[in-house]
Amino acid sequence: MKICVLGGDGYCGWATALYLSQRGHQIAIADSFARRQWDHELGVQTLTPIRSMPERLRTWKRISGENIEFFSGDITDYEFMSAVVKKFAPEAVVHFAEQRAAPYSMIDRKHAVFTQVNNLVGTLNLLFALREFQPDCHLVKLGTMGEYGTPNIDIEEGYITVEHNGRKDVLPFPKQPGSFYHLSKVHDSHNITFACKIWGLRATDLNQGVVYGTMTDEAALDETLINRFDYDEVFGTVLNRFCAQAAVGHPLTVYGKGGQTRGYLDIRDTVRCVELACLNPARVGEFRVFNQFTEQFSVLELARMVQTAGRNLGLRVEIDHLPDPRVEAEEHYYNARHSKLVELGLTPHLLSESLLDSLLNIAMQYRENVDRSLFMPTVNWRNVHNERQPDVAAHAGANVPFDGPFEASAASASGNGHFDSRD
Ligand code: NAD
Repeated sequence: MKICVLGGDGYCGWATALYLSQRGHQIAIADSFARRQWDHELGVQTLTPIRSMPERLRTWKRISGENIEFFSGDITDYEFMSAVVKKFAPEAVVHFAEQRAAPYSMIDRKHAVFTQVNNLVGTLNLLFALREFQPDCHLVKLGTMGEYGTPNIDIEEGYITVEHNGRKDVLPFPKQPGSFYHLSKVHDSHNITFACKIWGLRATDLNQGVVYGTMTDEAALDETLINRFDYDEVFGTVLNRFCAQAAVGHPLTVYGKGGQTRGYLDIRDTVRCVELACLNPARVGEFRVFNQFTEQFSVLELARMVQTAGRNLGLRVEIDHLPDPRVEAEEHYYNARHSKLVELGLTPHLLSESLLDSLLNIAMQYRENVDRSLFMPTVNWRNVHNERQPDVAAHAGANVPFDGPFEASAASASGNGHFDSRD
């Protein structure tokens, strides 16, 4: 199958591109490297040393014999987005290419505006490009479980049957997102629903839980293929951060009481879920929603699991409760359905002690790269302006298009390159 992975230089995208390529699919990646710029802007780095895209692709070609095409550009630029769709003519597009950190979107107005412009414009451009040039292509879009919030009822997979004043209908499940980033995902979902309805596009929204882990079978083949391991307070996902903290003897930073419960999944399940969605496409005109996670944990439960696993490896692991920088329930009911991907054939990798051991071992292997100053939360949801770093404004002006995302897109269009692993 011809599958285009938007955001294929990122954490989920890189693992997915390699996995799908190894499974015999013909893969193209599109990415603007925006994420590498945001890391630079914030002064953060992945724990694992990720390589340049040309190096990654050359290594993959050498090891697997498979070619992955690469399109360099910004999908908020319609010329670029539509050129990718026309040139590659995908049967499925997997869309990971968004700003995905809730804290980043809550730094201040510029970051909130940037997040929503980047995410909404990119997705709208993709919808128009598909409609114009590849209308039968299946859009597999990454949403998040965070779109639902934490309602005091069970969360369904996208839709709920409602009875009201004696009448009954199946309606989109109510969304109560918890950040400007999560709101961007809700807005995307509405735009995609509408495009499916008016143009007969086909789409699957994968409402993904929090992903952990870094190793997939493919990324483990050579250090040049290694994936990101983000542990900082802005981009780090919670379990990865706890493992990095345990590895260097820093207390695990639990926000508030730690009763915040969410869905989680192993990166190896992310890649499989995406393949299952591609192989079993939505029908023409259908907007389908899968909840993509395998287990639920509270933050405190995760911290205690890391503490136990760390102690077994001889690490001294303490747990700290910090004031919660987010506006969220610290204890609540949470029960979300997640059966549709299992029905399609997903066999989950559950979070076991051996997996925690391997996560901790990676964190220990690279622990000299850990910058402990990046652990503590500096973005408070209650503030309209968070001074994350004294020089953020200067960096933002230099590297990231906060004041003019559209201008920046136009500029990047002239620099759009295209190469593949043969180059
Ligand atoms: P990531 O930041 O590692 O990767 C995103 C990639 O998209 C980056 O390589 C970035 O350069 C690229 N990108 C962003 N905007 C772009 C644009 N306008 N044009 C071209 N490329 C652009 O993020 P990730 O963790 O891999 O997440 C991928 C997707 O999965 C996101 O949409 C995210 O919301 C969703 N998701 C992730 C998680 C998680 O735990 N990581 C959980 C739920 C949902």
